[in-house]
Amino acid sequence: MSADGTSAMIAPAVDSSPATATTGAPKVVMEAHNIVKELGAGARKTRALKGVSLSLNAGELTLLMGPSGSGKTTLLSILGCILSPTGGTLSVAGRSTQGLNAEGLADLRRRHIGFVFQAYNLVPTLTALENVMLALDLRGASLSDAPYLAWEALDAVGLSHRAHTSPSKLSGGEKQRVSIARALAGSPSVVLADEPTAALDAENGKAVMALLAEVAKDKSRAVLVVTHDHRTLEYGDRMIRIEDGRIASRMRRRPTSARGQFDMVETAAA
Ligand code: ADP
Ligand code: MG
Repeated sequence: MSADGTSAMIAPAVDSSPATATTGAPKVVMEAHNIVKELGAGARKTRALKGVSLSLNAGELTLLMGPSGSGKTTLLSILGCILSPTGGTLSVAGRSTQGLNAEGLADLRRRHIGFVFQAYNLVPTLTALENVMLALDLRGASLSDAPYLAWEALDAVGLSHRAHTSPSKLSGGEKQRVSIARALAGSPSVVLADEPTAALDAENGKAVMALLAEVAKDKSRAVLVVTHDHRTLEYGDRMIRIEDGRIASRMRRRPTSARGQFDMVETAAA
């Protein structure tokens, strides 16, 4: 394994059918249609999202970019089944969220979504391994499997040698890798990351993006990264730009271009 852990084997998500089945079409693991979200109440009511449609394909890393206040976090929260949309529809791993109550949404989230946050959100009193085990516990893994699965997830991000270390003794880059391990534990279909490199220096930011790109190579898993860090551009297969609650442009990497190179063209597709 390389020092930054990017050549590690990443555990496949639950459904390991190929992204391009017999049709050659990409496997859609998340589909949002015409999402509207109103936040706040009364005079302070804001329409944070004004009709956003997008699909996330397995095997791809999609970047979501846009100015501060454009609706990125709100969209991520809806895609992650944390917030319900005011209007529009969402399906996750082929299941519509329509009509689901809070418990149903939480269940879908636990089964299919992994989150990575800018501020890592690790529990400070637990070791790296225990942080990952906690996530597995919340996802309903059996107690006897949890230590092994957590170890495997830490190994996949190149951090098994730090398993018994508490977050305060880890560098920012290591903390973010633990939080990626936590997101991967339980093999979610979708990994959603909100500005995962914002608190990191250039070198650690690059290592974290390279790791997320590696995570996205799994043919049954999609990764969406909210970022306004231009250093992340080279790692994306697609880029969606959002402005004032609406999608302003969509781009896709040219098939001929290699990762590590920014070479995208505008596309019309959702
Ligand atoms: P971004 O992540 O792109 O910076 P957000 O999704 O956080 O944007 O916010 C989108 C818009 O919704 C902003 O105008 C913001 O002020 C507003 N907003 C966010 N959260 C709330 C809230 N809880 N109540 C009212 N307005 C909110
Ligand atoms: Mg935000």
